[in-house]
Amino acid sequence: MIPLTLGEIASITGGTLVNAAPDVTVTGGVEYDSRKVGPGGLFVAFDGEKVDGHSYAGGVIAGGAAGVLATKDVGVPSVIVEDQLAALAALAAHVVRNLDKLVVVGLTGSSGKTTTKDYIGQLLSRLGPTVAPAGSLNNELGFPYTVLQATPETRFLVLEMGARGIGHIRYLTEIARPSIGVVLNVGAAHIGEFGSIEGTALAKGELVEALPVDGVAVLNADDPLVSAMASRTSARVVLTGSSAADVQAAEVKLDASGRASYLLKWGGRSGHVALGVVGQHQVANTLAAAAVALAAGMDFDELTTALGEVGIVSGRRMDVFQNPAGVTVIDDSYNANPSSTAAALRALASMGEGRRTTAVLGYMAELGEHEISGHAEVGRLAAELNIDRLIVVAENARPILDGAAALADKHLAADQAEAIAILKQDLRADDVVLVKGSRYRTWDVADWLRRPEE
Ligand code: ATP
Ligand code: MG
Repeated sequence: MIPLTLGEIASITGGTLVNAAPDVTVTGGVEYDSRKVGPGGLFVAFDGEKVDGHSYAGGVIAGGAAGVLATKDVGVPSVIVEDQLAALAALAAHVVRNLDKLVVVGLTGSSGKTTTKDYIGQLLSRLGPTVAPAGSLNNELGFPYTVLQATPETRFLVLEMGARGIGHIRYLTEIARPSIGVVLNVGAAHIGEFGSIEGTALAKGELVEALPVDGVAVLNADDPLVSAMASRTSARVVLTGSSAADVQAAEVKLDASGRASYLLKWGGRSGHVALGVVGQHQVANTLAAAAVALAAGMDFDELTTALGEVGIVSGRRMDVFQNPAGVTVIDDSYNANPSSTAAALRALASMGEGRRTTAVLGYMAELGEHEISGHAEVGRLAAELNIDRLIVVAENARPILDGAAALADKHLAADQAEAIAILKQDLRADDVVLVKGSRYRTWDVADWLRRPEE
């Protein structure tokens, strides 16, 4: 944040200051988790479903916070507003307007936003102070919250942008307008809310529409719905892709550990990149990150080395490790949709040279009318890739099993406990096991695989 008095915060948010002098200054950060508020910080007291954040307000002030952004007067120094999300948006917009050397990078897409945001954050940190917090902070709360982490020292602010409907990304760009915008892909994620893949493309394209003329739009040339967005922006377009593109990955190879290497080509230059992260889909993600780094002025040779060092700091995303029993686990359980599951299955298959592969797959939420076909498609791919063993978790994911009719070794587990029991019966050192599903639906399985002896 930039230092702001409670009086200024009241005027920026249209709120009312109570129980404090207007010159009390917020010098710390803005937090909505009371445990994270530091001295001089501003606590946003949300009314949660279970707990009312206002009940922590007294404790937070006693702990040294400067004030509370509240919806009611609970007797402590506060700015009272009607709508805290709107207040956060106004504060975030004010902060961006007052940080003139800030380069704002926005990225969207159906899969890989958080992953690629992590990569971009790590690359840009080599050029200057960068804000790109771990996790998936991409909505009307997480977005302004991330913006408010920026300080006068910050040079790069990397913002993940999610869209659940038309106008959502436009709203976010009005809080902080990116000068570099990235669209990764348009897939079937959250298609339930958009009705169609074209509707999804329409919503995601709002990012490039918001870019200024002297901005840069980084578009995936391998995804026709993304490259078509070039006509919706007046910014300079930089295409990324595996064939003709401004930032290109040629000679892509995948090794037996599922890691890709490629020849990075840009403006007549080329250099070898060997990724440490797993999965062929990381090629597209790292290309997008590379395009951003180049637009921000990174030296090409430094970039090719740096790309080999990027990692995913946000948890449960292509987290590959060997557990104490010698099993290689791919924990990709953070979330799932058909395209990210396809990417993960391909990574699993690529690691199956001489080793038994097992996919533990749970329900994929938010597929709308594609619910059955989306699950079946994933099952068919598992069979096509000759995954050795398939464990489908819970009845709602059964269409995966139906799609995988051609596989011999397949199971429907009633719940995660049963999936763990199936794994327990027959788990060998040297197995490779992928765990994937929407949100918490396979997290217990992934956690058990991490510590199978417990
Ligand atoms: P969310 O909409 O939940 O915020 P996200 O777009 O931020 O998702 P990540 O959290 O980075 O995406 O990754 C979600 C899943 O998609 C992970 O399983 C990840 O491995 C997979 N994934 C990452 N990049 C790609 C890609 N380019 N194509 C397909 N799947 C991908
Ligand atoms: Mg995310």
